[in-house]
Amino acid sequence: MTTFLAGGTGTPKLLAGASEVFPPTGTTVVGNTGDDVELGGHLVSPDLDTILFMDGGVLDRETWWGIADDGGTTHEELRRLAEEVGLGVGPRYLPEDAQTAGRDIARWRRFSGVGEFMYIGDRDRAVHITRTSLVDEGHTLTEATRTLADAFGLDRDLLPMSDDPVATIVHTPEGPMHFQEWWVARGGEPAVEDVEFRGADDATPTEAVLASLADPVVVGPSNPVTSIGPMTAMDEFRAALDDTAVVAVSPFVGDRVFSGPAAKLMEATGHEASTAGVAEAYPFADAFVLDEDDPTDLDRPIVRTDTALDNGEDSERVARAVAGALEVVAR
Ligand code: GDP
Repeated sequence: MTTFLAGGTGTPKLLAGASEVFPPTGTTVVGNTGDDVELGGHLVSPDLDTILFMDGGVLDRETWWGIADDGGTTHEELRRLAEEVGLGVGPRYLPEDAQTAGRDIARWRRFSGVGEFMYIGDRDRAVHITRTSLVDEGHTLTEATRTLADAFGLDRDLLPMSDDPVATIVHTPEGPMHFQEWWVARGGEPAVEDVEFRGADDATPTEAVLASLADPVVVGPSNPVTSIGPMTAMDEFRAALDDTAVVAVSPFVGDRVFSGPAAKLMEATGHEASTAGVAEAYPFADAFVLDEDDPTDLDRPIVRTDTALDNGEDSERVARAVAGALEVVAR
C-alpha cells in the first residue's frame, strides 16, 4: 500500500493517470480539510471532492474542481436573489458566536449562503447535502466520506486528514480571513502576513490516517502551506511522517511554481518560494522527485523527470519517478 497526501490540484493530477504504477486498490489518499467551509449550512470539502469526482469519472478536468457539465441553477438563483435586494455576492461570515456553535467540524469557517460566494454546481451540491446530512445524523467526516466514496464507486481509500476542525486562516493587513475568502473571493489579495491553522493544536489525525501513514507516503506536488501545512500542523501527523518513508514531488521547478498561490504563501510563512524552500518545509521527506530542469541540489536523494502533469502520460512518467524514489528510500 502507498499513501498519498493531497490538496486539490497537484496530487490529483499525479494520480489521474498513475493507475499502472499505483493501482487505486493499493493506494490511500489523505485529503486536506483546512480549505473546507460551511456554506449556507452545507459542508464543502473541496480537496476530498476533487479525488471523489476524479475517481468517480465526473471531475471537471478544466478546473480540477466540481463536476463536468454540471448545472448552476441553484447557485445562479442564490446570487440573483441577493443582488435583487442589494446584498451582493461577497463572502458573508456567520456572526462571531456562531463560528464556534453548531457543527464542531465547521468551526471558524461558517459562511452564510446569501449570494453564495463560491460556485457550487447543482450535482456538486447534492454531495455537500449528503455529506452534511450524514454528519448531522451522527457520522464522522471519515464515515461520511467513505459513504460518498462508495456512491462514486471508488476503489481507493479516501480519508479526510482529521475528524476535528482545522481551518486555514490567512492573516493580512486587512485582518484575518478564511483561505477561501482570500483565494476565491479576493483572488489571492491582499498581501499575506501569516497563515494560521486554527484548531490544529487540539486536532488529531484519525486512526485510519495514522494507520495509512505507516505505509510509504508520497507528498504529491501540493501547496506546501495550505494543502500539506494543515496536516503537519497536527503533532501526531508530523511524528508519523518522521517515522515512515516519505517521497515528495516538488510543485516548483527551481523558483518557478506551476500554478496557484504557493509562492506567495511560502514567503509569508518564512520559506523561500522554491524547491529549496519546499525541502526545508519538509524535513520529514527522505527523497524528492524534481524536474529535470530544476537546478536545485539537496542533501537528500533526488530522482529527476519532467514533472509537468498535463495528461495521463505525464502522470504515469512522474508516478514511475515516484516509485523509483520510494525504492531508493526503502533500500
Ligand atoms: P490546491 O488545493 O488547488 O491549492 O492544490 P494542491 O495543493 O493540490 O496543488 C497546488 C500545487 O500543484 C501548486 O503549488 C502547483 O505548483 C502544483 N502543480 C500544479 N500543476 C502541476 C504540474 O503539472 N506539475 C507539478 N510538479 N506541480 C503542479
